[in-house]
Amino acid sequence: MTFKDLGIALPILKAIDEQGYTNPTPIQEQAIPILLNHKDLLGVAQTGTGKTAAFSIPIIHHLHTNEQHTQGKKRIKALIVTPTRELAIQIGENFTAYSKHTNIRNTVIFGGVKQQRQVNAMRPGVDALIATPGRLLDLMNQGIISLRDVQYVVLDEADQMLDMGFIHDIKKIIAKLPPKRQSLFFSATMPKDIVTLSRKILGDFERVTIQPKQATAEKVEQGIYFVSKLNKPKLLIHLIEENPEASVLVFSRTKHGANKIVKKLAQADINSAAIHGNKSQTARQKALGAFKEGKLNVLVATDIAARGIDVEDLSLVVNYDLPNVPETYVHRIGRTGRASASGIALSFCDKEERAYLRDIEKLIKQEVPRMPEHQFVDDGDSQTESEEEKQHQKPRSSSRPKSRHGSSNFRGKNNRNTNKPRPKKRD
Ligand code: AMP
Repeated sequence: MTFKDLGIALPILKAIDEQGYTNPTPIQEQAIPILLNHKDLLGVAQTGTGKTAAFSIPIIHHLHTNEQHTQGKKRIKALIVTPTRELAIQIGENFTAYSKHTNIRNTVIFGGVKQQRQVNAMRPGVDALIATPGRLLDLMNQGIISLRDVQYVVLDEADQMLDMGFIHDIKKIIAKLPPKRQSLFFSATMPKDIVTLSRKILGDFERVTIQPKQATAEKVEQGIYFVSKLNKPKLLIHLIEENPEASVLVFSRTKHGANKIVKKLAQADINSAAIHGNKSQTARQKALGAFKEGKLNVLVATDIAARGIDVEDLSLVVNYDLPNVPETYVHRIGRTGRASASGIALSFCDKEERAYLRDIEKLIKQEVPRMPEHQFVDDGDSQTESEEEKQHQKPRSSSRPKSRHGSSNFRGKNNRNTNKPRPKKRD
């Protein structure tokens, strides 16, 4: 199937072609006809599947084909609500790319920055607004934004929005939407409260489910290292040094953990940055921008900050901690091996995380390939982190590494080739 077969307007087809998309992804193939047919949609899918285009393209198509009937200043006819600033910006970029040969205008609003610039951007009138819930509600309460004319609404990453405590904001936003509208609801997982929320927003809907398996199995090479907590930093440093050209996204379960990883890498003269909820919006954007442009090779992120981050040519995802929610593993490794690329996802598993690994393997219905023996094996977890920290507080010797490759920080430096970070393929 091609995009042309789906009956999308020509200026949009041209933009899709310029993006280099040759064929629709499975979610696009299924969702676009439903949406062009004005039906509501429940999409059970995660980022990395081509979900953004699946909802943006039909909305742009509708806005574009109805445009000649609208007069005067543009009003917000499409609203896309998404949990994080990063996702909002990314959706805005995609929306702009797909609509570049039309007159459809969009803008993005999110919290954590002064509102004035966002308000100014909306002043001439926009057709589509991409927003995080808090800032949207804030501007609605100030009378700056009205949802009166909204005809298309998308709730994106609904499970993440609930996790982040946006439920009340979402309910207030839904209450202000006109009853006659097309509603789209996307969530990677469907626990009970998400089903309840979806009922509040959707009318007569069709459901499209894209199984996580599709995102993991074929495109992403996975591998697992059994490694003690203590040796995780050494193994990470080793992997990065072995792949100096790779752009590496490292996942940490906690904000504190992310900061600690950045510190450890700095001690080995590896430049990295952390993005998480405690970082300012400017710091997050700066780090993400540098990473996307290839100026920064290593980004350390928590799940919430990284969800949906779309970085072209991301070659390696490292799960420094295994997530305790197995679906999160799928989201994380989906950051690499995006729609048209292939990637590698390596995970570190210490003794306490073995149960998490079992849950993950149950979910993805496959065994994560075991990586070959490496020099950081210390499965006894013999030293605790606090003991290790005590050691770090001791005065340092003058033999600190001067360059990444001059590092003598860890054992087995002469033994580099024994530990290539490529998972062994299993049949
Ligand atoms: P998303 O799931 O919306 O975050 O999209 C994941 C990535 O897939 C983005 O980099 C998109 O630009 C890309 N993408 C979306 N649709 C297609 C397609 N039909 N062909 C190739 N790449 C695509």
